[in-house]
Amino acid sequence: MKYFILFGPPGAGKGTQASAMAERYKLCHISTGELLRKEIHSGTELGQKAKSLIEAGALVPDEIVQAMIENQFKTVKGVEGFLLDGFPRTIAQAEALDTILKGMEEEVSSVVAIIIPDEMIMERIKHRAMLEGRADDASDDIINNRIKTYHDKTEPLIEYYKKAGKFAEINGVGTIEEVRQKSFEIMDKF
Ligand code: ADP
Repeated sequence: MKYFILFGPPGAGKGTQASAMAERYKLCHISTGELLRKEIHSGTELGQKAKSLIEAGALVPDEIVQAMIENQFKTVKGVEGFLLDGFPRTIAQAEALDTILKGMEEEVSSVVAIIIPDEMIMERIKHRAMLEGRADDASDDIINNRIKTYHDKTEPLIEYYKKAGKFAEINGVGTIEEVRQKSFEIMDKF
């Protein structure tokens, strides 16, 4: 099985690229953000816990997302691998993922990182806010908090995966098509 991590700051275009990647390599696309939004929408206990954190631009607890990921690995059948989008987002989550995969005699295939500068994060999210109306896209304060959370908690993963020899970076400033082609070049090797 292949385990790809789609990495990048909020608004980098992960969601935009994910469906073409999932289709080409027969992967199950798992977006922890999407799964959490579904929980909120259905009003589950988990959703209620996550709502205020997400709407403040903070992360939900590691254990919650780790359990969601493990559950997907156990239940999804008939695919050639997984495309993890928005997970891992902390070093603790990356370590937990390594442990979960090791338990299944598997490992991360590669990280595909789509990187854009902070100014563009704000611009893209504001554009998306008009189209999608996500609560965590609604104000500059929340977006700035998410950018800060990304730099503080998530960016250290770049070193983590570079050390493991699994980090591949794409400049996310290009067009959707350019970013897609570059992603395919990386992922074709696995
Ligand atoms: P974006 O890519 O725009 O940041 P996501 O849909 O990936 O949006 O995530 C939305 C929110 O869901 C995050 O800001 C965070 O609060 C929560 N979330 C998603 N994935 C995780 C995770 N792996 N760990 C903790 N919180 C998460």
